[in-house]
Amino acid sequence: MRDVVIVGGGPAGLAAALVFGRSRKRVTLFDAGEARNAASEHVHGFLSRDGVKPSELRAIARAELARYSGVEVRDARVLSIEKREPFVVHTDREKVEARRVLLCVGLLDELPQLAGMTACWGKSVLHCPYCHGWECREKHLGFLPRTETELDFALLLRGWTDRLTVFSNGVKLDAEMKADFETAKIRVDERRVVGLRSEGCDLRAVQVEGGEVAIDNLFVHPVQRQTPVVAALGLRMLDENSVWVDEHGETSAPGIYAAGDLTTPIHGALLAAAAGAAAAYKLNTALTKSSMREKR
Ligand SMILES: Cc1cc2nc3c(=O)[nH]c(=O)nc-3n(C[C@H](O)[C@H](O)[C@H](O)COP(=O)(O)OP(=O)(O)OC[C@H]3O[C@@H](n4cnc5c(N)ncnc54)[C@H](O)[C@@H]3O)c2cc1C
Repeated sequence: MRDVVIVGGGPAGLAAALVFGRSRKRVTLFDAGEARNAASEHVHGFLSRDGVKPSELRAIARAELARYSGVEVRDARVLSIEKREPFVVHTDREKVEARRVLLCVGLLDELPQLAGMTACWGKSVLHCPYCHGWECREKHLGFLPRTETELDFALLLRGWTDRLTVFSNGVKLDAEMKADFETAKIRVDERRVVGLRSEGCDLRAVQVEGGEVAIDNLFVHPVQRQTPVVAALGLRMLDENSVWVDEHGETSAPGIYAAGDLTTPIHGALLAAAAGAAAAYKLNTALTKSSMREKR
């Protein structure tokens, strides 16, 4: 029996494993190996690791975990979790029993269906200016919103460039937004977007009906979905995309905790690592105190 099974070995899961290892807990971390940011060449904004490769960040963390005898890291996908204590976590090869489960599986991105999108994603088509804005500063940026509620993201993007074109692509701008864009000198192209022209992974232009607009980097917000293993648990949701957790990091299923991108709309590697560590502090505190009380 393990104290905790951690599902997911991105920044959240790895940071949690480090806390548990140092707390002398016996934990198993399963990782399916599909990093959310795998399409990117660099992780930016991670204190002391700014610009590291995503795979290198994970490798450094795994090497640190190897110092702690209580931590096992396994490359395997968790297929299902039996939602009762002791929890039984199934992969295609084995099943592991645990007193608690910590979900750190991140989210799935569904890219807009546009020719050229997949090749450019994470390289020249981006989603987060805090991650990649510095590298695109002062370039001609584009933004392709999905919905009206996303439009004011363009005002944020203007912080990195004074050459910004919003491809509204059928999304309607109200009078107030038009006035904001005019004041901020944000161009709006209302033509239908039909594709991206790129050389390899370098975006050259956004193709619109009847022409194209030369653009260096395009920002989009993919639809995000929970992973199948989380969806199958039927957990309470905070909003459409995020799993609800209480102040201890526990989900609506007692004994199942969650941390990282799957619990919040604000995503970043350092934020996820901090969330994983915080959840592990709380979970370890609860587990340790209850073990001590059981000895009475
Ligand atoms: C293209 C892109 C670029 C980004 N660039 C940056 C950046 O420069 N700086 C920054 O701070 N943030 C960046 N981010 C955001 C950052 O990657 C995430 O916020 C961070 O990775 C979230 O960490 P996490 O541990 O919650 O989830 P993830 O990093 O997504 O890790 C989840 C892990 O769980 C595994 N998993 C999923 N399901 C299962 C299962 N059933 N069984 C076992 N394992 C499973 C996955 O394979 C994955 O390895 C970027 C995101 C994207 C999409």
